[in-house]
Amino acid sequence: MQDFIDPKDLLLKKIRARGGFVNAHAHIDRAYILNKTNYKLTSATLQQKWDFPDQYKAKASVGDIYSNMARVVESMCAQGVQAIGSFIDVDPVVKDKAILASQKLRDNFKKDIKIVFINQVVKGVIEPEAKRWFEIGAQYADIIGGLLEKDKGREAEHLDILFQTAKKNGKKLLHVHVDQFNSPRQRDTELLVKKTLEHGYEGKVTAIHCLSVAAQPKAYRQKLYKQMKKADIKVVACPVAWIDSPRSEVLAPSHNAVTPVDEMVAAGLSVGLGTDNISDIYKPFNDGDMWTELHFLLEACHIYDIDTLSDIASVNGLKTLGL
Ligand SMILES: [Zn+2]
Repeated sequence: MQDFIDPKDLLLKKIRARGGFVNAHAHIDRAYILNKTNYKLTSATLQQKWDFPDQYKAKASVGDIYSNMARVVESMCAQGVQAIGSFIDVDPVVKDKAILASQKLRDNFKKDIKIVFINQVVKGVIEPEAKRWFEIGAQYADIIGGLLEKDKGREAEHLDILFQTAKKNGKKLLHVHVDQFNSPRQRDTELLVKKTLEHGYEGKVTAIHCLSVAAQPKAYRQKLYKQMKKADIKVVACPVAWIDSPRSEVLAPSHNAVTPVDEMVAAGLSVGLGTDNISDIYKPFNDGDMWTELHFLLEACHIYDIDTLSDIASVNGLKTLGL
């Protein structure tokens, strides 16, 4: 009885050997914005929450937003995170304040951590004023960001605008929030594959979350993974952020409310790891701990292979961020 191992220790050592964790998906501009008033809103649904940060965003100064961002980045550095990819809101409410804060952030932390910015489109990309700010954000961002559910019913158009804007601005990569509602009625990832092929963006697109894929029948899932592989679409999973997916009476194959990472990895897809929202009305108790995210993922998806897990926690995130 001498060959004891400590798998957590082995895994963390392997991640360190690969340069450290990579947080491939976050929203650091709206972290730490909880107060006594908005905390009451934490129990609302996701759709109801989308516009809640507006009050904060309208009033916040560039310095306020910078402070939120810096607090997250300091926490990431303390955990040995080598790179972070964060969406930042650029929309008619916050305008360019998060852009200005992010420039300062990148300057101040350039020796400590790689930071990649993706423009968030929480107001969609179709309504004219939202589109105007999307185009401003797209010029600045390293990666073009999308949020399909914000232009519900016009998802294909939303994606066409993302790809066209990426081409116009010479942006090589896209990160798109898809299939967030854990419902078999959603087929966003399938649409993202179709549009990626149509626009010739193979190998340049990352699907963020893909939760509803797990609610589809096995034959559909397996076919989808093959299509994703063909379009070389990468995935980012944020397990803690989505485990609160509400129970529903819609029938689906039994599954955890977590991206089906085990199946995706087996199908040859690259999956990275992210924290998503930290200490805000969406996720008041998420403190951005990368080990917590990885632990959730490995338990929920029954993945215990150390190499696979260390890839997910580090190098796969670098690939998705173009690093
Ligand atoms: Zn997100």
